[in-house]
Formats: sequence, C-alpha cells, structure tokens
Amino acid sequence: MKVTDIMKNRMLFSFEVFPPKTPDGMEKLTKEGGVLDDLYQMEPDYISCTYGAGGTNVGLNLEVLKAIKASGKTIPMTHFTCIGNTKEGMKQQLQTYLDNGIDHVLALRGDLPYGWTGTNGDLHYATELVKFIRQEYGDKFTIAVSGSPEGHIASRSLRADITYLKQKQDMGADYIMTQLCWDLTQFERWLELIRRAGITMPIDVGIMPVLSPTAVITQSLSRNGSVIPRDLARLLTKYWIFPNPFAPTEEEDAIKRKLDDFRKAGIEYTIGAIDRYRLLDIDGLHIYSLNKAEDVMTLVKDSGIRDII
Ligand code: FAD
Repeated sequence: MKVTDIMKNRMLFSFEVFPPKTPDGMEKLTKEGGVLDDLYQMEPDYISCTYGAGGTNVGLNLEVLKAIKASGKTIPMTHFTCIGNTKEGMKQQLQTYLDNGIDHVLALRGDLPYGWTGTNGDLHYATELVKFIRQEYGDKFTIAVSGSPEGHIASRSLRADITYLKQKQDMGADYIMTQLCWDLTQFERWLELIRRAGITMPIDVGIMPVLSPTAVITQSLSRNGSVIPRDLARLLTKYWIFPNPFAPTEEEDAIKRKLDDFRKAGIEYTIGAIDRYRLLDIDGLHIYSLNKAEDVMTLVKDSGIRDII
C-alpha cells in the first residue's frame, strides 16, 4: 500500500517520531505498551522516523522503522538526507531500507551542522536526492519532499524556494510534507502560489503540537525562523514564567501551574489550527509526536480528527 493511494480517497493521518538518544528512550518508544503501541491505537496511516545529521543515528532510525514494520500496524517511512553521504553510502542505506520492507522516504537535504556551508556529501540539495533515488530505484520508493510555507530560512526568496519545490516534483517526488507553520494566513498564500506555479503534488501538513513555552520558542527560532502569530504570542505572554521560561525563578508550584495551564491552552490552540487547516485544500495531517504519546492522544481525541477525516 502506498500512502499516495490513500490520499486519493481521503485525508491522510500520520505521526513523526525520532530515534531516542538513550537506550532508556528506545525502550520507552519500542517496548510492548510503549509510545509506538499508544500511537498505533490512533490508527495512523503511516509513522515517519527522522534521520540525524551526518547519519549518526542511522542505526537507531533503522531499528525504530523495523519495529514499526514488524508491528504490521502501519506503514513505516524513513527521513533521509544528503548530509555527509556519498552516493555509494546512500545506495547501501536505501537498499537496506528496501530489504527491510521500508519503501517510503522523505527526501531531504538535511539540516547543516553548525559551521558547515554545504552537505559535505555527493549531493547538495533535495532535488538531486529525488533524482538519484528515481534513477537508482525507479518506482520502488514513494518519495515525499519538504515544503516550507514561509520559505526555507536560507532561501533567497519565497519565489526561488517555490521554483526548487517545482523541481522536486519534476524530478519525480510524489507529495509534500510541510515544515511547521503557525501562520495560517501565510500558509494560504503559499498554497495559492505553489498551485499557480504548477505544483500539483498532494500536501501533507506538518502539525507541531503547542505544549510548552520553551519548545514553541525553540521550534520557531532555532532552525526554522517561523513566525509566532499574535494569537500564539498572546498565549506565551499570558503564561509567561519570570524572568524568562528558560531560567525561571518563580516558586516551583507557580511554575508547574503555569506550565500545566499553558499545555491545556496549547492543545486547544493546536486543535483550532487543525480545524483551520482542514478547511483548506490539504491532503493530510502529519503530527510531530515528539515521542510524547499522552499529549498527542489527548490532542487526537479532543480534536476528533480520527473520526472526521
Ligand atoms: P532543499 O529543498 O534542498 O532546500 C535547501 C535550501 O536550498 C533552501 O533554501 C532552498 O531554497 C535552496 N535550494 C534548493 N535547491 C536549490 C538549488 N538547486 N540551487 C540553489 N539553492 C537551492 N532534517 C534532518 O536533518 N533530518 C530529518 O529527519 C528531518 N526531517 C524533516 C521533516 C520535515 C517534515 C521537514 C519539513 C524538515 C525536516 N528536516 C530534517 C529539516 C530539513 O532537512 C531542513 O529544513 C533543511 O535545512 C532543508 O532541507 P530541504 O530538503 O528542504 O532542502
């Protein structure tokens, strides 16, 4: 089954997980009754697993994907990047995925480690990776690519970024997974622009749950340069922990209360964003689970997304 076939009939619903850095984290994710088992209960069409810069966690990425495949509960999808990878190395890794029944891939350039000016690999952009995978493997892989509704943070312009997105389609990509974007007005504008540019690929929208003030600030600013719209800024302000949430000096109880209140308000905010996305012409909702099944289950249950897609 290909996720693109599902999208022809209805909206997709999926999760992203990441390979934990510690054996304890891995155990929590993959053990019986662990995070993955909780996520399966929500019947996702697929679960994708991130791939670390330089391929440092490639082993664990594969372990997580193999566990998903072995469960038989959903389609495993790997993220894959150009960072530090030779063509020969990529062929070996991609073949290993196929040998393990993993035939869905999100083809990315990858985040450049601090101080790097390029990928230090044989391929430099996601477009080249899509072309490479199609050349080497034909239609064996279903290929997703990233799309940045606000424009990639390093792009010369939104127009240039859209041109490269069109090239990914021309090279044979199947669908778009979007970068986190809380600014829905910008998302609508981008949607109109890409359709006008001849990009017809289905769009699976990445949803970052709003769960903690420090996470929102970090996710927005550390790599993506995403806008925090006024309604989200209002939440951050309302539950602000003084002097700042990264180095709080308030009483422990007060901090805990504010964090709990923020999480509840954040889940409500995320549900509102999901509702607004659903009104647009999108083909899927991809929830960044952050390996936190409990909060994600609340989000899915309270939003009713599993029943209304
Ligand atoms: P590209 O599409 O190659 O674009 C990179 C930059 O180069 C952009 O500014 C673009 O405008 C420009 N560009 C593109 N093509 C050309 C060209 N031919 N000539 C000149 N300029 C060009 N990163 C990870 O390391 N691991 C992950 O697992 C991971 N998962 C992700 C999941 C999702 C859903 C998303 C949206 C992103 C993910 N990322 C991940 C982050 C991603 O790798 C970064 O955003 C990275 O900086 C860009 O990757 P890309 O594939 O969008 O790059």
